[in-house]
Amino acid sequence: MSYERICGQDRAKSLIAAWLRRGRGPHAVLVSGPPGVGKRWLAFELAKALNCRAGGEEACGYCAPCRRTETWSHPDLCALVPLSKREKEDREPPLWREVWTEVRPEVMDYLSQEGSFFRGRANIPKNYFLSLRQEMGYAPVEGRWKVALIFEAECMYPAGANALLKILEEPPPHACFILVSSAPQRLLSTVVSRCQRLPLRRLSWEQLAGQLAGEGVEAQRAEVAARLAEGSLQRARQVAAGELDELSRQVERFLQAGFENQDGVYWELVEELAGDRLRLEQFLSLSSHYLRDVFLLSWQRFGEVARADRLEFLQQLQERLSAAGVEELAVELDRGFGCLGRNVHAPLVLAELWRQLRQGAKG
Ligand SMILES: [Zn+2]
Repeated sequence: MSYERICGQDRAKSLIAAWLRRGRGPHAVLVSGPPGVGKRWLAFELAKALNCRAGGEEACGYCAPCRRTETWSHPDLCALVPLSKREKEDREPPLWREVWTEVRPEVMDYLSQEGSFFRGRANIPKNYFLSLRQEMGYAPVEGRWKVALIFEAECMYPAGANALLKILEEPPPHACFILVSSAPQRLLSTVVSRCQRLPLRRLSWEQLAGQLAGEGVEAQRAEVAARLAEGSLQRARQVAAGELDELSRQVERFLQAGFENQDGVYWELVEELAGDRLRLEQFLSLSSHYLRDVFLLSWQRFGEVARADRLEFLQQLQERLSAAGVEELAVELDRGFGCLGRNVHAPLVLAELWRQLRQGAKG
């Protein structure tokens, strides 16, 4: 058994099992899906299974090749991650051995943490694809396959993407390329069309709650985190660890002040939020959960409420808000998200929400 790091995703697992049963996997795989659903570990498990000596429907996790893959010391395993520094494109591609010395610690670091830590202009350099192409052309040293994992594959400049495409057009018979991306729409369509797709899905809140409970999170906290996580295990863990606690206090302050026409609170929050786009998006998302909960309460659908830990507060809101007001607010939030996606000045979205909030209050 070797899937303990991946929650759910049975369909993808059974697809992998079918490839392994037939003993003939595709030469290129694209593992895609929203953030936090287990893409990188599923790709890693596939890489491990391809050279596992037990030859089962998944990696055994115990044989020597499995153990070597686990420590990134298998001679037939390659990987690339985006690197923050810019390469010099004018020099000859280095030997893969040299690339690997630099990339291996980055890969291990990448897998040891959750979430993308590639900010700014991280890139997978073209030269490294050329080195990889050369390396993947050699016969495997000890395994059945030479396997190359390419994490955050959308982080390639066009030159790198073209170099990769050249490899995928004529892959060596023993080569398997596993691309991982949460933004496959940013890959070259010619690259995508050469890959067998392995799409991962958002997890159900029940799966997430079960997983968190198994990790020792207290039951109600696990359930609230699971409902707020929007299908992402990574997010669920962050919420369970208290990452939204401060933001929840801000949202509650905002909602309450809106009904009480306390404009001073609004300006304070604008100050706190406006400089940080990501936080503002999270703020709007969490606000929509609260308002959705108020909506659910007014329909007596208690079992579906996300913030079951904040029932008293929600009930106070419900008493202050007209039914029409809740609906208008929900529409406004959806619109606000659309605007953020189109780069509309974020404080404007917040201002409009504030206006709606004051209008939605009873009396
Ligand atoms: Zn094994």
